[in-house]
Amino acid sequence: MTIIGGGWAGLAAAVRATQKGFAVRLLEAAPHLGGRARRVVHEGLALDNGQHILIGAYRDTLQLLQTVGVDTEATLLRLPLNLKRVDGQGLSLPALPAPLNLLVGVCSARGWSWSDKLSLLRQATGWQTQGFVCDASMTAAQLCQGLTPKVMQELIEPLCVSALNLPAEHASGQIFLTVLKDALWSGKGSSDMLLPKVDLGSLMPDAANAWLTAHGALVETHHRIEDLGPWLQHPVVLACSPWEAAKLTHRLAPVWSTQAASLTHTAIATVYVRTAKQLSWRKPIVALHSHPQAPAQFAFDKGSLSDDPAWQGVLALVVSASTDERDTITQQVMGQIRDQLEIQDASLLTTVVEKRATFACTPTLVRPPVQVCAGIWACGDYVAGPYPATLEAAVRSGFTAADALPQ
Ligand SMILES: Cc1cc2nc3c(=O)[nH]c(=O)nc-3n(C[C@H](O)[C@H](O)[C@H](O)COP(=O)(O)OP(=O)(O)OC[C@H]3O[C@@H](n4cnc5c(N)ncnc54)[C@H](O)[C@@H]3O)c2cc1C
Repeated sequence: MTIIGGGWAGLAAAVRATQKGFAVRLLEAAPHLGGRARRVVHEGLALDNGQHILIGAYRDTLQLLQTVGVDTEATLLRLPLNLKRVDGQGLSLPALPAPLNLLVGVCSARGWSWSDKLSLLRQATGWQTQGFVCDASMTAAQLCQGLTPKVMQELIEPLCVSALNLPAEHASGQIFLTVLKDALWSGKGSSDMLLPKVDLGSLMPDAANAWLTAHGALVETHHRIEDLGPWLQHPVVLACSPWEAAKLTHRLAPVWSTQAASLTHTAIATVYVRTAKQLSWRKPIVALHSHPQAPAQFAFDKGSLSDDPAWQGVLALVVSASTDERDTITQQVMGQIRDQLEIQDASLLTTVVEKRATFACTPTLVRPPVQVCAGIWACGDYVAGPYPATLEAAVRSGFTAADALPQ
């Protein structure tokens, strides 16, 4: 069988199909594996195509890492959810079982009045009572109508834009609710943040490549597929981007192809800087006060994530749902570093802008199904499923596609 695309979905499909006894050939157009979640080397420094964060609820991703032999203790820093700013304001959850952690975290949130806290507890109880289901046409903003402006601004907006890469007023309420449920109501550790201590290539694709090769699969990079014709004697899994999958299938499966082609996408920018300053707030991640002229939502101190000397003094600032051009984003984020992080000496390493970072997860969006047509399946973060465009959505859909193959 052939898998086209070596991002996290394609690698997950390849590992699962190999486990099931298929002779797997994985073809990747780029010189490297990992797709959008890959290592990017800047002047000898291993960074990423964008700073990523995983959470404890990423069940299938963690399973994949374990299968391919990744030591998750050594490669991921596990921390209780912390959305506090440098001044200590905001929400963090204590290391307690869910939903007790939410209750204690909300009650002790700094800078929130009792009416802020009660609005969130009331709303959360309502979601739970309704089985975490809402009208499919609702936006995340409509879902959260009962919350105070402070809770919206300091919790919901940053969570929604990080998880769905869309502001709450445009994002699907149901998908946001599913993310909240899996993160906050699904057992101990599910809301924990898992921050990579290594670059994304070292976190999974390198290990998956080694595992696949050791188990007899063929992995070829620099191999772009332009026409599916020669590959159709055996099952094919399309693990490429939706726009590429749409091109490859427009004659074979026009309805599926149109669905895939009609998805729209939103951008994410990561500004990497270096500072020689000893940080007063030394924490792996801090929330930022974000608004249109100060667009970054979070700052990561890569030196707090790893002992690697190369990462000391390196910060990654993430602008989800970014709309501006690279130079404007860079300039505005440099301003945030000076004003909010109080770092005056930061020098720019690079700004990585991924224009089509994720599909726009809007209400009532119809995502293409896993079965494209006879003999062809699809996987990727955009394929129909309960999650927004995340590593977990990609890995889950890779497993689902491999499980759908005829034995
Ligand atoms: C900047 C950024 C930050 C993000 N942050 C997070 C985060 O914090 N947490 C999180 O969970 N998710 C995050 N995501 C989302 C996550 O990276 C994606 O959901 C995931 O990587 C998608 O994987 P995929 O395999 O579905 O697709 P892709 O990674 O796009 O893989 C598709 C692969 O197919 C290859 N390909 C395309 N066409 C062809 C062809 N014709 N022939 C052969 N190969 C082809 C491509 O080169 C690519 O390698 C982020 C994404 C970006 C861009």
